Amino acid sequence: KNNQIKQLDQLGAIGQMAAGIAHEIKNPLTTIKGFVQLLSEKAESEYSDIILSELERIEFIMGEILMLAKPQTNISFKRKNLNQIILEVISFMNPEAIIHNVTLNRSLSPIPAVSCEAKQIKQVLINIIKNAIEAMPSGGNIRIKTYYSDGFIGMDIIDNGKGISEERLKRLKEPFYTDKEKGTGLGLMICYKIIEDHHGTIHFTSEEGRGTCVHIKLPAAT
Ligand code: ADP
Ligand code: MG
Repeated sequence: KNNQIKQLDQLGAIGQMAAGIAHEIKNPLTTIKGFVQLLSEKAESEYSDIILSELERIEFIMGEILMLAKPQTNISFKRKNLNQIILEVISFMNPEAIIHNVTLNRSLSPIPAVSCEAKQIKQVLINIIKNAIEAMPSGGNIRIKTYYSDGFIGMDIIDNGKGISEERLKRLKEPFYTDKEKGTGLGLMICYKIIEDHHGTIHFTSEEGRGTCVHIKLPAAT
């Protein structure tokens, strides 16, 4: 737990600089993209597609770094019901799940409200659901459960994908840790940061070959 906070602090310290760099790179990137698009209109070329898709990848990574590093301006914590947020995320993610042969199930219990920034909690759920889908290349099930206990709202996201070995479990908190060819290893960092900002906790249990469960706890609003 301490180690996790240290890692997030470190990220905060370099965050300012990362955000500055990401911001500086954004404008020339947009210019390059525009001219590559013009070039590809003038002379049809397979290279411009490659350049454009690689530029889009840089933009995506920059976006994730900015999300981690930028101090969140105009965040406002409001009383929300997590069940409602989950339902919205499920309908948003359902098309992507269906494409990958994945069913999104839920078992939602009556729970008290949490004080949260709904957009950020949605981001957490989306990142976790995406990982779950990616852990089940030939399809499977994702179940989202909510429950209440001891002043905390619990939320479990369970998949029956490839699972995570014990030594890899220890590394999930590291920025840029990924086992995917096109991964950034930043999705979970964003989740940890957001849940910490909400005074909650997030931890993983997993068994290789069987699946993974992400446990999130958030304090009930008083
Ligand atoms: P990325 O998805 O870009 O790799 P993340 O930070 O989202 O980065 O995830 C980091 C790593 O954690 C993944 O590469 C994967 O190895 C592991 N992981 C996360 N969620 C799951 C899951 N549900 N099942 C198996 N592995 C997972
Ligand atoms: Mg991910």
